[in-house]
Amino acid sequence: MAFFDGINKSLNSVKQSTQRTAELSRVQRRINAMGQEIEKVFHQIGQSYYSGLKKGGADFEALGRLCSTIDTLERDVEALRKQTDELKRLRRCPECGHAQNIDSKFCASCGHRLKEDEAEGFDSAEVGEPAESAEDRPEAEADDEDAEKTDDAE
Ligand SMILES: [Zn+2]
Repeated sequence: MAFFDGINKSLNSVKQSTQRTAELSRVQRRINAMGQEIEKVFHQIGQSYYSGLKKGGADFEALGRLCSTIDTLERDVEALRKQTDELKRLRRCPECGHAQNIDSKFCASCGHRLKEDEAEGFDSAEVGEPAESAEDRPEAEADDEDAEKTDDAE
């Protein structure tokens, strides 16, 4: 049975890493698309400013709207970058922002201790290995045996 468990486990990890790679390229395409969108809005700001000046004064209300559009897009890009960190199995240090392997206990750059709960946007559910429950089982069986012996004695 251990043989098949091993095969299942490695098939699962292959499947997971394939899914991660596909997800990673999907997220990176979105980051690229949003980068182009940001460029477009910068271009619009330039045009609006230019045509505004020609008419005797820039439309600062319109320019302000375009600026907040850029802010929103950049926040979205930042959120997507965090997703790519997770998919690349990277964790950023909350102190200095250095990216390192998700399993690192300490920051390689500043030495800050990296706890599970300090990893921003880190989804621990995805990393869980099912091996732990199998290790717990022998203990539970041993408890049952003890209970039976006590019953026999009485
Ligand atoms: Zn650090």
